Amino acid sequence: MDSKTDAQRPPSQSYGAASSPQRIRPVADMEKIASLCKRRGFIFQSSEIYGGLNGSWDYGPLGVELKRNLKNYWWHVMVHERDDVVGMDGSILMNRAVWKASGHEDTFSDPMVDCRSCKARLRADQVIERKGVRQCPNCGGKDLTEPRPFNLMFKTYVGATEDESSITYLRPETAQSIFVQFKNVLEVSRKKLPFGIAQIGKAFRNEINPRNFTFRSREFEQMELEYFCRAEEGVNLLDYWLEERLKFYENIGILRDKLHARKVPDDERAFYSKGTYDIEYDFPFGRQELEGVAYRTDYDLQQHIKASGKSLDYFDEETKQRFVPHVIEPSAGVDRTVLALICEAYSEDEAPDEKGKMEKRIVLRFHPRIAPIKCGIFPLLRNNAQLVAKAKEIVDLLRPHMFIFYDESGAIGRRYRRQDEIGTPFGVTVDFETLGEKDAALRDTVTLRERDSMKQERVAINDLPDILRSRIS
Ligand code: ATP
Repeated sequence: MDSKTDAQRPPSQSYGAASSPQRIRPVADMEKIASLCKRRGFIFQSSEIYGGLNGSWDYGPLGVELKRNLKNYWWHVMVHERDDVVGMDGSILMNRAVWKASGHEDTFSDPMVDCRSCKARLRADQVIERKGVRQCPNCGGKDLTEPRPFNLMFKTYVGATEDESSITYLRPETAQSIFVQFKNVLEVSRKKLPFGIAQIGKAFRNEINPRNFTFRSREFEQMELEYFCRAEEGVNLLDYWLEERLKFYENIGILRDKLHARKVPDDERAFYSKGTYDIEYDFPFGRQELEGVAYRTDYDLQQHIKASGKSLDYFDEETKQRFVPHVIEPSAGVDRTVLALICEAYSEDEAPDEKGKMEKRIVLRFHPRIAPIKCGIFPLLRNNAQLVAKAKEIVDLLRPHMFIFYDESGAIGRRYRRQDEIGTPFGVTVDFETLGEKDAALRDTVTLRERDSMKQERVAINDLPDILRSRIS
């Protein structure tokens, strides 16, 4: 089958554009991104009709697909493709003793400062300092309180009485349920060290200043792996996991040169950690953390052993030794990664409309693997029953294999633009050639258009599932 751009195709076969697009605005700005996210149904403000709730977001029809594709790919790579990792799904509410033992109740806090002039409550690291004088970033006021710790956990009560005995917290990370279930999972999975337990789930932090769209939220999701090992393997495995995780981001379409592995200096690291890297991404608002990869030693398991009095150790059948494993933790944020994917994908270029006039095109250049919709299906004309019937046959053919979208309304160029804007990598157009009206040899072939290059090729309908599956995975 042939392969042409829109420009090379004769007018009768060319839909929506007459030449290759020119990329003119590769860098996204956050206002445009937030507006696109709302307009096209990726992300909405939570409780919007009541004025919203700071730090909470809802994912719309496309956002939920993108998020799900990301989580499924993480699960696929981290659990299904490996022999040495199993999954679990822990509860959000846990016994308060967990948070006492883990240290969260006493120390999971950010230093907070109040501005007495404008009453703003700020994270201490947001206060600006000019000529040695601390200033409020909101009003410029200099009357600020001394920093004091603010615990980030959301407190709640379990059961009908609200007193000291019923207090617990919404979990601020998913990791602790993995540590406290270590023994159960080890027993049922019969894994040998090194092995890991993976989990994806909600976490909650009462952030002092949620900001940068979804980047710092109060409710978010994490994808965490606790990879247990012998003490002597820890340092090497930290480097191994850093590389694995960098590869992961590249495989979902984030350019390597926008990713940075920052070695966290000794004075910023938790006292028990023997090494931590932050994987950072160049967001439009600056370089910020996507994921932490930390060598946490045996700290967490030891804390829970001490506090619960239960054994959380490992018996090595070969050496007959019993010991508490060390752990490497790659801990990624789902919402931050979704935001990075959208920022990375956003681009504007110019492409000709039906009449050849150049117009602005917004394109989300998602990797096909994570794109919410994989393929748009378009009958050239909606008032032609044969074209519509053929297009619906293709819908039925492809639907078992991938999430597709059928659209018959508006000029074909407009339909392409709508899909470009939400990152659909492929479009299939059913035209009169598909019906064999012009050339019997082209009967049951369609135009397959690729989003980024706008290249169009003629392919047989029966080949579509294989062609598309191979380009998506
Ligand atoms: P930060 O320094 O940005 O507050 P952190 O170092 O406290 O992050 P971790 O405790 O290491 O974050 O959590 C692991 C991951 O969970 C982070 O890399 C991030 O992707 C995600 N995460 C943490 N806090 C938030 C938040 N408030 N909103 C969205 N994602 C978050």
